[in-house]
Amino acid sequence: MTPAATSCLIRRIGVHTSVAGGLPLAAERAQALGCQTLQIFSSSPRQWRGAELDPAACARMIRLRREYGLRPLVIHANYLINAAGADPALWERSIAALRGELLRARQLQAEFLVLHPGAPGAGNDRAAAIARVGEAVRRAAQGLRWGRLKLLIENTAGGGRLGGAWEEMAALLAAVSAVPSGVCIDTCHAWAAGYDIRSAAGYHHAIAALHRAVGLKHVHVIHVNDSKGGCNSHVDRHQNIGQGTLGREAFRLWMNDPRWARKAFILETPVDAPGDDRKNLRRLRSLIASPAPRANARPA
Ligand SMILES: [Zn+2]
Ligand SMILES: [Zn+2]
Repeated sequence: MTPAATSCLIRRIGVHTSVAGGLPLAAERAQALGCQTLQIFSSSPRQWRGAELDPAACARMIRLRREYGLRPLVIHANYLINAAGADPALWERSIAALRGELLRARQLQAEFLVLHPGAPGAGNDRAAAIARVGEAVRRAAQGLRWGRLKLLIENTAGGGRLGGAWEEMAALLAAVSAVPSGVCIDTCHAWAAGYDIRSAAGYHHAIAALHRAVGLKHVHVIHVNDSKGGCNSHVDRHQNIGQGTLGREAFRLWMNDPRWARKAFILETPVDAPGDDRKNLRRLRSLIASPAPRANARPA
């Protein structure tokens, strides 16, 4: 494609947005940042007890999203949920919490609920853990009317967690196939799990492997995060776009790949100071359709 043809590329970009002060404020914040989509927590991500949503706040959120064209709405599930774990009490708790997440996602008319697949625990069989994820999701979703909601399994930084390798993502997707489902791909996690997406060759190799294992049509959301850890480090620590171990070129590849044209890009980058979200959005947008650095370009 010529630069002229790609310069009008539409990319739906948003950030993980705070719901402090009430859900509708998240839509207001996303709109103020110039986002086309957003991700939120529907309850505190580090507490088992799920919030009861106020129906009036839900209705206002739905209205604002329609007015501002904010879609999809992505909800990130609670971090405590471990549907893969072998401890029966924690597993039951995880199922109950996941059910709460699904019900709140429906109340908010969200398109996607993103779930980390969890960890089997030291010494436990990974295939059995994947089967537990499938069973937990089936139980959590019993009797649920899905509407347009889909459950997305997010890839992880690997190591002790399920879902680092694309093949494991494929097995997880198969395990939850009883419900409307897909996957969310996090750039930081893919890199930390060992996919060298920093160069064009590495990126194309990794995406081809993702397509073979999972199928790109099942990818609905991309978490765009730079990384503090290195390739294959299994370290899940996000960094500002272009300031981590991935660097700008990796994001230029993701943002200009026509295969992602209809997906939602969500930033989960650190907010150390007010305005950091705006800076990361600007950096990401500046990479869209910018020409690749020339091999003979003189160093600055
Ligand atoms: Zn993520
Ligand atoms: Zn992460």
